[in-house]
Amino acid sequence: MARRPLIAGNWKMHTSLDEARALAVAVVAASNDLDDRDVMIAPPSTALSEVAGVVADSNVILSSQNVHWAVKGAFTGEISPLMLKDIGCKMAIIGHSERRHVFFETDELINKRIQGAIENEITPVFCIGETLSQREEGKMIDVLEGQVWSGLENVSLHNASQLVVAYEPVWAIGTGKTATENQAQEVHAYLRDLLGNIFEKNIAAQMRILYGGSVKPENIDILMQQDDIDGVLVGGAALEADSFERIIRFHK
Ligand code: PEP
Repeated sequence: MARRPLIAGNWKMHTSLDEARALAVAVVAASNDLDDRDVMIAPPSTALSEVAGVVADSNVILSSQNVHWAVKGAFTGEISPLMLKDIGCKMAIIGHSERRHVFFETDELINKRIQGAIENEITPVFCIGETLSQREEGKMIDVLEGQVWSGLENVSLHNASQLVVAYEPVWAIGTGKTATENQAQEVHAYLRDLLGNIFEKNIAAQMRILYGGSVKPENIDILMQQDDIDGVLVGGAALEADSFERIIRFHK
């Protein structure tokens, strides 16, 4: 069975309420007639409820940019998976490189977030990726393998739709440098193999692996033409309706 492409936009710490509403309206309009792909947007927490209203009854999936593992409790500054579910949020980005490198989230913490999300029927978009120095020192595979095994420890799945993996080389995020389509395809094929060792092979075969890192209208088509690239996680180019529309409307 073919994997259904997923085009995901991470708005990070951008957009006022008005801007978020307008961008969400534009994304809904841009994806309305497309029934062969999924589109997801991850607004900042302040705009989640508002955007939930805009995307209700559309094809657009709502995601948060992180999620705590507990359903409630004394965890200042966090959002619980039940709170997300309550407003219609279906996905949560977990382990984004900015969380790992700016806020020092560890593999262990990320693993707890992934488990909490899955237990509460929120699909994690589990981000992994190597830094430039790790790649240059030939440590890329060890780093990715470590992130995947630790992040998915004790995670069991009934089906592939419970988890999305996003390969985002840190050196390509927000830098304008994109991995070439061959570099990305090579890592994605490796990751699918690795996921096949962790879960059942048929689950890994069905699981969506996204590429992220300076995806833009100019490189979306060639990336989406690669066998193991099932979609993209987009930062900067997801903040402008026109560029995100072109990315959503990629051609294979
Ligand atoms: C991201 O935030 O996940 C990302 C890939 O950002 P950008 O597209 O701006 O590189």
